[in-house]
Amino acid sequence: MYMIDPFGRTISYLRVSVTDRCDFRCTYCMAEDMAFLPKKDLLSLEELDRLCTVFVEKGVRKLRLTGGEPLVRKNIMHLVRQISRHLESGALEELTLTTNGSQLSRFAAELADCGVKRINVSLDTLDPEKFRQITRWGNLDKVMDGIDAAQAAGLKVKLNAVALKDFNDAELPEMLRWAHGRGMELTVIETMPMGEIDADRTDQYLPLSLLRAALERQFTLTDIPYKTGGPARYVHVAETGGRLGFITPMTHNFCESCNRVRLTCTGTLYMCLGQEDAADLRAPLRASEGNELVADAIDEAIGRKPKGHDFIIDRRTNRPSVSRHMSVTGG
Ligand code: SAM
Repeated sequence: MYMIDPFGRTISYLRVSVTDRCDFRCTYCMAEDMAFLPKKDLLSLEELDRLCTVFVEKGVRKLRLTGGEPLVRKNIMHLVRQISRHLESGALEELTLTTNGSQLSRFAAELADCGVKRINVSLDTLDPEKFRQITRWGNLDKVMDGIDAAQAAGLKVKLNAVALKDFNDAELPEMLRWAHGRGMELTVIETMPMGEIDADRTDQYLPLSLLRAALERQFTLTDIPYKTGGPARYVHVAETGGRLGFITPMTHNFCESCNRVRLTCTGTLYMCLGQEDAADLRAPLRASEGNELVADAIDEAIGRKPKGHDFIIDRRTNRPSVSRHMSVTGG
């Protein structure tokens, strides 16, 4: 019944991109002029719920909603509410969300009411002008209101910042102090070569080994074995008393412990963030009212989960490792 891949890894974590659309256009994530998936290809919220339920029945214990921006999908709270029944039954351990925070002030209380305990908010800078620049369309005040609302609703907030050379590297110590001062964890992420963007990724890419060395000039960082089910590796920061995570898909991948697969809003299952191979679950889902066909399609897909990714960012390669943008599969 459980999903075990050819390398013996048990798949217990599903990330679901409920829409590839977003109200921001972060320069490292998307081109300004994006072609989105045709609306007619989208799974309905009921279909997404049905697929999530099959995954839960097959051993998924953690489910993260992402996007695009998950909170811009119409009626998204209906799906959250539906999935939350698996929390109540105990079949699902955790339901979380990755969001840009722009709509959080509207939804934070309801998310908490549905049993969501922690969320990730993506935030790359605390400077309103730079925020506008990196997101192209975003308003930092709205995100700050969203973070306030999430904390007021009792949600644990973890901030995710993509480390970008000459953009936010100098600001990260301040962000770290600010986040920890407000009881939030911070995780920094290396930019990944996914999809064509307008900028040159070689200019943006900052290996986190360099960032860590720079932070260690100001902070005492101690490696700790703390895990949240994702790929981050954590350190304790003595000066702030908080935790800092590093996600290093470029300099050090942790594929050997990968427990995840990713479902898109059109029912495509990606077994690896960094590979093109995918399985269509929409056709088997729609072909029958029962779940046997789709369960078989999932097994078949897990049976070819690759060992890992091989992202490259350098001037010689100078093209994305995978053609789709991160917004298709979510972070
Ligand atoms: N809209 C939501 C948000 O902003 O968190 C969820 C989707 S967004 C694609 C998920 C995460 O992926 C964000 O933290 C974003 O910064 C990150 N991201 C997007 N493109 C990336 C890339 N090329 N490399 C690394 N991280 C990326």
